[in-house]
Amino acid sequence: MAPAMSSSARDKISEMTKRTNLVGLAPAELHAALLAVGVPDKAAAMRARQLWNWIYVHGARDFGAMTNLAKDFRAKMAESFVLERPQVVTEQISNDGTRKWLLRTDPGIEFETVFIPEPGRGTLCISSQVGCTLNCRFCHTGTQKLVRNLTPSEIVGQVVIAREALGDWPSTKENRRITNVVLMGMGEPLYNFDNVRQAMALVSDGDGLAFSKRRITLSTAGVVPMIARAGHEIGCSLAISLHSVRDEVRDVIVPINRKYPLRELLAACRAYPGVSNARRITFEYVMLKGVNDSLADARELVRAIRGIPAKINLIPFNPWPGAPYECSDWEQIEKFAEIVNRAGYASPVRTPRGRDIMAACGQLKSESVKLRASERAAAETLAQMRSDELARLPS
Ligand code: SAH
Repeated sequence: MAPAMSSSARDKISEMTKRTNLVGLAPAELHAALLAVGVPDKAAAMRARQLWNWIYVHGARDFGAMTNLAKDFRAKMAESFVLERPQVVTEQISNDGTRKWLLRTDPGIEFETVFIPEPGRGTLCISSQVGCTLNCRFCHTGTQKLVRNLTPSEIVGQVVIAREALGDWPSTKENRRITNVVLMGMGEPLYNFDNVRQAMALVSDGDGLAFSKRRITLSTAGVVPMIARAGHEIGCSLAISLHSVRDEVRDVIVPINRKYPLRELLAACRAYPGVSNARRITFEYVMLKGVNDSLADARELVRAIRGIPAKINLIPFNPWPGAPYECSDWEQIEKFAEIVNRAGYASPVRTPRGRDIMAACGQLKSESVKLRASERAAAETLAQMRSDELARLPS
């Protein structure tokens, strides 16, 4: 006969047998998950709505807190499901108020999220991949090989974690600190399209996290074939990491340009669904001394984007250890901005934020490395052994 087991040991064991995480499921998936554990058909839609409200409006972390649900229903949920978030490994706060979290989900899967407070608004910069495949020469993340795409749960989990840390629950509260979400952290969001789309549907769901799509901006280095789909299927605002309008320069600093050259990229921008003067495309332009910052470059830039409703975000280059570039001189940035401005484009210079904690644009990087399958299996066995040990501890 099996020895009697304490209830906490049972809890720990069922934790190991991987219950489904409800955070990050699409509405239809949540509904299906409830049906799959025997919630009656006619109750499932309402139960799904209630759970949704607890998860995304109130930031519930466990089923026990869901006080308007019957006790036995909550117990049944806890048996079958979890409400899992990324684990916060570190939180750093810059002397300018910028915050950076290093988050972890699976063994070795670490990624960063940054909150940038400004007067009257607060921007959350989230990651879409661990590492990146693009190798932009000036970007620190680009020196970290792609480990893997983040899942919808890991992407939406970044918003959930930040809202929690900043006291932004419930989602319906006024004067929330996070007003905007930008996909400008680690990774190329258009190379993780399906997961990003699902996560952004959750982030913009009016009955949940409730960010308006206008306040969600996806930044891409220029995955041209996916740009129109981003407009149609995600419906967010678009930012393009442009950085040069000369193919011979862009080929070097943003190598994806060799695959999708400027002519194609700019055509995709002109055709971006929903683009208008009220809804401009943001062109990001990192100022690299002696590389792309001449006044001729500025004139060329405004010529190239003529006719596209746009604003140009000039980003002083943020250094990182071993970076092969320097930031343009401040005077040069101002002169460059003036040319762009006189041509009729807003050209704010992005104030570097959080440089002291390596949280500024292009400085994000985690220690995660891609493991070979055998190494990953070993890491997982180790983690399993640790939780087995934990489960054996007396309660
Ligand atoms: N892969 C996407 C999302 C990353 S967004 C993209 O490229 O758009 C990160 C932004 O920071 C991009 O505009 C990127 O070009 C910019 N950036 C990268 N490294 C930088 C650095 N060292 N200094 C300033 N901006 C940088």
